[in-house]
Amino acid sequence: MQVVWFKRDLRCSDHAALTRAAQVGPVLPLYVVEPDLWQQPDASHRQWCFVAETLAELRDDLKLRGQPLVVRQGSVVEILEGLMRQGRLSALWSHEESGNGWTFQRDCRVAAWCRDNGIPWHELQNHGVWRRLQSRDGWAKRWDRLMAQPCASAPQLAPVDIVPGSIPTARDLGLGSDVSPGRQSGGRGAGLERLESFLNQRGEHYQRAMSSPLEGTSACSRLSPYLAWGAVSMREVAQANAARQRALLPAEKSWRKSLRSFSGRLHWHCHFIQKIEDEPRIEFENLHRLMDDLRPKTPDAARLQAWEKGETGYPFLDACMRCLRSTGWLNFRMRAMLMAVAAYHLWLDWRAPGQHLARMFTDYEPGIHWSQVQMQSGTTGINTVRIYNPVKQGFDQDPTGIFIRIWLPELAQIPDRHLHEPWAADNSAEVIGRHYPERIFDHMAAAKAAREKIWEVRRRPDFRTQADVIAAKHASRKNRSRRKTPSPKGSAQLDLPFGETS
Ligand SMILES: Cc1cc2nc3c(=O)[nH]c(=O)nc-3n(C[C@H](O)[C@H](O)[C@H](O)COP(=O)(O)OP(=O)(O)OC[C@H]3O[C@@H](n4cnc5c(N)ncnc54)[C@H](O)[C@@H]3O)c2cc1C
Repeated sequence: MQVVWFKRDLRCSDHAALTRAAQVGPVLPLYVVEPDLWQQPDASHRQWCFVAETLAELRDDLKLRGQPLVVRQGSVVEILEGLMRQGRLSALWSHEESGNGWTFQRDCRVAAWCRDNGIPWHELQNHGVWRRLQSRDGWAKRWDRLMAQPCASAPQLAPVDIVPGSIPTARDLGLGSDVSPGRQSGGRGAGLERLESFLNQRGEHYQRAMSSPLEGTSACSRLSPYLAWGAVSMREVAQANAARQRALLPAEKSWRKSLRSFSGRLHWHCHFIQKIEDEPRIEFENLHRLMDDLRPKTPDAARLQAWEKGETGYPFLDACMRCLRSTGWLNFRMRAMLMAVAAYHLWLDWRAPGQHLARMFTDYEPGIHWSQVQMQSGTTGINTVRIYNPVKQGFDQDPTGIFIRIWLPELAQIPDRHLHEPWAADNSAEVIGRHYPERIFDHMAAAKAAREKIWEVRRRPDFRTQADVIAAKHASRKNRSRRKTPSPKGSAQLDLPFGETS
């Protein structure tokens, strides 16, 4: 019996482990609900609901192929032990997972158990992330070649005489209540629908509109949770995008620009996960160790809580946080701004705000997340320091204030022209401090103080030596020349790979 262990790859199409296992013998498709994993500080109710919906659909898809998904709850080692005793486990198949510290330790335990019990564990590559990568040189070309390979076809399965087991609810797992009425639905069907509608209807103005909190909701692909939990594979998305680009007419210029830009983002997905694969400590420690004493280790609880609730007194910032809490999604720029304000203006160590954001994101993907959290906090040492101004971002991205009006009804009495800075309105005393909080920081003074502290470290003589080592290991090769000479102003907005800034 070939046990195929589903992890963050909840699909049967382009599932190399499933296809290969079925070529060897009868397959038992297994998902293990691990209560300890779901109690980690980065896990949440909304993520589980998305996963549960995706599992239900996967179970149906596998049933159509001959054998429904088997769901068990407990520790993976214990479940495997039980299957082995019943004579239902000759080999274990799965995809490689570049997850958080908890899943890494669990995989170490599974590997040790397999070794001790003579069970071969075949781990196959899931997307464009390489284990034991020697060098970043040529990474993007390798990614392109991998994505061009044919998708693995879903096999037919022989039925196994085994109780399928039920999929627990969030309450069964003890996950606290979480109100996110706008959360994206789970399931491969929903993911494929998003892919199709993005490539054929919604994506034309992606490049122009992606940073707008209103337009971005439909102009962005919204594929992130489906990619994060593997309901669709990166190769399926990359190939569909390439095919659509080939079919474009010469006159379809905005489509062409947008889909090229989208292709860049697909590279970023794996580029960032590669970082945690190569250096798992990125989840726990400052990438650049000279940043270790920069911020207090224990965050100011009142400031953290105000930021988490969207009650900082800065309307655009608060609207973004409340939108995230309610929908589980934000575009890239708004995520970057939320994190940058926590790290710079509020001067909070990135770990606690990073965990809050992780829980809020339905698409939480540890490799992307912790790399981005550190990048937006200035602790990687290799990225341009970018301190977003929450008022300016509001004027730029929500000029008419529609977005703020949606999420902050308590500002209804504030006239449009003062919506981004309600403290300047004539009637501010009727609203501020009564229905909406006073500002908890002065954004100009806080940004200035943060910039000075960060640059005090970056100017130290030993800063560059460590930064060069980090860049050699993690940075994209495209912007290498720009990175040589960091300046307080910074030449690249975000110093992102694949020739683009966001
Ligand atoms: C602080 C912070 C935390 C983040 N945490 C996550 C996370 O946990 N999970 C996650 O998927 N993304 C994360 N991102 C990246 C990005 O914001 C989201 O991928 C994107 O907003 C998802 O929306 P979309 O699917 O419509 O993206 P699109 O713009 O349509 O892009 C398509 C896909 O490309 C990938 N992608 C896009 N932007 C990035 C990026 N900047 N870095 C890496 N991959 C990218 C995603 O897989 C995305 O689904 C984070 C960004 C920041 C600033």
